[in-house]
Amino acid sequence: MTARILVVDDIPANVKLLEAKLSAEYYEVLTASNGRECLDVAAHNSPDLILLDIMMPGMDGFEVCQHLKANEATAHIPVVMVTALSEISDKVKGLDAGADDFLSKPVNDTALFARVRSLLRLKMMMDELRVRQESYGQLGIMENRDAETGDQARVLVVENSTFTARRLTTYLADGGHEVEHVQTGEQARQRAREADFDLIIVGIDVDGENGLRLCSHLRSQEESRHVPQLMVLEDADLERLAKGLELGVSDYLVKPLDKGELLARVRTQVRRRRYHERLRTRIQKSVSMAFTDPLTGLFNRRYLTTHLDRKLLDIGQSGKPVSVAIFDVDLFKQVNDTYGHGPGDEVLKLLATIATNNLRSIDLVARYGGEEFVVVMPETSREQAMKIMERLRKRVAQTDFPIGVEGNTRLAITISIGVATTNDPDDMAEDVLERADVALYQAKKAGRNRCVDNSNADPAEAYQASDW
Ligand code: GH3
Ligand code: MG
Ligand code: MG
Repeated sequence: MTARILVVDDIPANVKLLEAKLSAEYYEVLTASNGRECLDVAAHNSPDLILLDIMMPGMDGFEVCQHLKANEATAHIPVVMVTALSEISDKVKGLDAGADDFLSKPVNDTALFARVRSLLRLKMMMDELRVRQESYGQLGIMENRDAETGDQARVLVVENSTFTARRLTTYLADGGHEVEHVQTGEQARQRAREADFDLIIVGIDVDGENGLRLCSHLRSQEESRHVPQLMVLEDADLERLAKGLELGVSDYLVKPLDKGELLARVRTQVRRRRYHERLRTRIQKSVSMAFTDPLTGLFNRRYLTTHLDRKLLDIGQSGKPVSVAIFDVDLFKQVNDTYGHGPGDEVLKLLATIATNNLRSIDLVARYGGEEFVVVMPETSREQAMKIMERLRKRVAQTDFPIGVEGNTRLAITISIGVATTNDPDDMAEDVLERADVALYQAKKAGRNRCVDNSNADPAEAYQASDW
């Protein structure tokens, strides 16, 4: 993963040192020696990450960080505060200024690359989300990342040393978090499946299991895939940790545990996770909006085509036919002309509900156009499809459609249906839809309120409406 990193420090030797370490790992390094220069480079050279010294003459690191986060052009760039001050209060202050993480000088390599890598990974994901978001025309969602706090987190502690566990629990409780402690990897996996944790703290060795392996399991398990992991270890374990960081451990703490640092790191991880979750939800919503018809809540034509193409490809494996039906409201123009567009819409909505309720769960209904709907029936033969659609046709014909505010005007509505079935995995959605459309046309020509299939599109052979 290559990236561009901006190193900011007023002491040239410090800049040189970090520059050398980062370049050795093939990162591209930009430098600045004071706050102003940092803001300038950040705004014009779009770095992927900023390592920011706190103690600088003129504008100090906190102030620089606030400026960076307040500017729309630079707000999304992760900032790591680098501090010679060992006082934790300063680290916490850095986080309050909007920094994403912090490092202590002298900077040790494991710590440096752990934080750099995990922030870069996160930034890549954010960039991806942002691109998608812009493509859905929903700019502005990214703003306000301060909306999340790292407070009152639900934390799972996986630790076999009773001493360390007790200490972690006490510190976390003092920090206002809710803590649950388990001893074994098996219990951890189970609890992570059952409950929604904001953070999992894992000892590098847990009962009967390598903690790193547990972390990797938690990453591959659906329910805990996105939960950040904080590893607790001894100095001597740092070498093993490198592997863990590759596997997805988010951050680590070295014993003896420092309460201030623990709480600061927990807050950072939890805040990041919550921000992440909010973005993910927003993206999911915008994706589902892009595939949904607002009037009926059914899938729209775009989704239908993709879905149908996929189902047609499945024929190659399953060998089972796919059937498609298009149905269209009979003489719908009259409904609009007589009662207005609003009542017309009500008819379409009720029709969508009737269709959804009367089809199998494997079938997919989509609004194809104005008053045309499509049903995709996977693994369904022509005969089964005709049965299913004939049942739907009858159901619609038997339903009184209430319209108007009181719902006291009741309309009789009918639909005509065209069905096409295919066994050919090389068929595309549009081929099958076209055949179904031909059948629909035949159904209309034959007098409406009927179901016709494409191989049998002769009006004389069409299913006659028996009860209409
Ligand atoms: P046919 O039996 O041949 O299908 O007759 P029809 O009147 O339904 O056919 P036509 O395609 O001529 O008319 C469809 C009408 O559907 C025209 C349009 O005003 C109406 N329509 C299309 N979309 C909507 C919609 O979203 N809401 C409402 N209320 N009407 C719609
Ligand atoms: Mg119509
Ligand atoms: Mg029509």
